[in-house]
Amino acid sequence: MKNIFLFHFCICSYLAYSQPAIIINSKKAYKLSIDSNIQKRMYNLQNLIPNVVLDLKYNTTNNFTTKKLYKKALSTYMRMPAASALLQIQNFLQTKGVGLKIFDAYRPYSATKLMWELIKDERYVANPKNGSNHNRGLAVDLTLINLTNKQEINMGTGFDNFTDTAHHTFTMLPQAILNNRKLLKSTMEQFGFRAFDTEWWHYSWPNNANYEVMDIGFKKMRRWTK
Ligand SMILES: [Zn+2]
Repeated sequence: MKNIFLFHFCICSYLAYSQPAIIINSKKAYKLSIDSNIQKRMYNLQNLIPNVVLDLKYNTTNNFTTKKLYKKALSTYMRMPAASALLQIQNFLQTKGVGLKIFDAYRPYSATKLMWELIKDERYVANPKNGSNHNRGLAVDLTLINLTNKQEINMGTGFDNFTDTAHHTFTMLPQAILNNRKLLKSTMEQFGFRAFDTEWWHYSWPNNANYEVMDIGFKKMRRWTK
């Protein structure tokens, strides 16, 4: 009995402390990390990318959790190589009259923990034990817009639609929609991003092992990326 109790206690302790080994959550730690590798610098996407449209769903209650998960997210952020690739993508798409609309990019680790507490289902949210590429400033959720009228281009489902209609392998859609998804995917991949099988809107930058999880609020991130 004593052993069973001990075992149970150990499991609980393990779960309570199961999170990434390094979490950058202070200005000093952030500065040290970018001093060691300039690629780790975060960029304010609104300042960097001309004509980019932000529709940050987790800064509102209009998301699948129905909770406002972010505080004062006036912009969104990514690490240098991913941000720079997005700038090139916007410039490339502009020649076709198309631009980017971003639903989410950098996500503080505490927001991932909150999502997990609300949903606790790995099909829909990242398990905080490893942290997600959004926490590393390496993932972006986005769609395409018509640059003239700023309307979203039809991708067949909205953002955070967790049905198989949102999968890249789902082809029972009108050809025009398949072409729209293909334009987004082929462009993102051409500039170095990787697609995610079950979400047409989610793209991530490779080599995530080189980048730490961050838990820095949006207000601070805005100041520190000036
Ligand atoms: Zn995502």
